[in-house]
Amino acid sequence: MKRRDFLGKVIVGATTATLAGVATACGDGASQGDAVSAPVVAKKKVTWRLASSFPRSLDTIFGGAEVLAERVTAMSGGAFTIKTHPAGELVPGLEVMDAVQGGAVQVGHTASYYYTGKSKALAFDCTVPFGLTARQQSAWLLEGGGLELMREVFAPFGILNFPAGNTGVQMGGWFKKKIESLADLEGLKMRIPGFGGKVMDRLGATVQVLAGGDIFPALERGAIDATEWVGPYDDLSLGFYKVAKVYHYPGWWEPGPSLSYYVNKSAWDKLPKEFQEIFTAAAAESAVAMQTRYDARNPTALEEIKKHGVELAPFSADVMAAARRESEALLEEFAAEDATFKKVYDAWKPFRDRQFDWFSVAELAYAQAVSG
Ligand code: CA
Repeated sequence: MKRRDFLGKVIVGATTATLAGVATACGDGASQGDAVSAPVVAKKKVTWRLASSFPRSLDTIFGGAEVLAERVTAMSGGAFTIKTHPAGELVPGLEVMDAVQGGAVQVGHTASYYYTGKSKALAFDCTVPFGLTARQQSAWLLEGGGLELMREVFAPFGILNFPAGNTGVQMGGWFKKKIESLADLEGLKMRIPGFGGKVMDRLGATVQVLAGGDIFPALERGAIDATEWVGPYDDLSLGFYKVAKVYHYPGWWEPGPSLSYYVNKSAWDKLPKEFQEIFTAAAAESAVAMQTRYDARNPTALEEIKKHGVELAPFSADVMAAARRESEALLEEFAAEDATFKKVYDAWKPFRDRQFDWFSVAELAYAQAVSG
């Protein structure tokens, strides 16, 4: 539609409304001004509680939920508010899904790969080893049919899921000794959760799962030899460079972890349609905020880390090849034993393969030409 046509329609619409206002004023004695400008029905105020899986100190991630809350308040003129609570304030970080499902909170802010014990297919809502990058994950969820598929997976839990942002490709993490080849993974005590941990186990490592606050002391006293976390910005704040001097990359187990908002379905169904639209728009805006904050802050954090005598080292080709082989095998095994996983995997895998066929052309060539 041409802009002039659009404006014409708006003006015609406004005129009709004004005339209707006059007619009403003539009919029932109300003033013309009230009839034209006042909302028909005053909106009932809605207040939701959000439980996050993350601490406030992860300001890029938790900050995403704060953007959601700020935008919902602003767009609704204060009629719809969301109060954000960090992990542990209402429920422990890994119990957010249960809290939303049970209705203890209306909305959760979490990462779906925490809940693969409930359904392995939930991992696709977040990330899987050798999966999609942030942009590719967004393309799959928003334009490639991924969100519809994931909403089918979430439906039995009474949850409606929304993408909430992404860290981008994570780092491989912090190692006390450099991993020169695959043989160096044998017996390595590494903190790495989820499917990535399962693959590391197949590669010979001794896998441990520790909560965020327990990692630094374990690495410091030698209870673990290595840990992964997120990327330069978050890793710098936890100070891992003080106790491990090799920073490997890439984190092939978390190439584009997508965070999620979980909304309790019955709370959603009770929400006025306008507020549903506001929530959807605010969630999308917060997802962009989280990703762009990481992309803006990681480069300077990496420069800072390198000043502390840290060696930045890619995983060797044999480690990457074995990791990819075992990751693909793991996903195939899950697909063979879990029908829901298979349904998502069968749609997701060709999408991933086509994405890399494309991204390895212009994006990769351009990044290589400009780097270094
Ligand atoms: Ca990680």
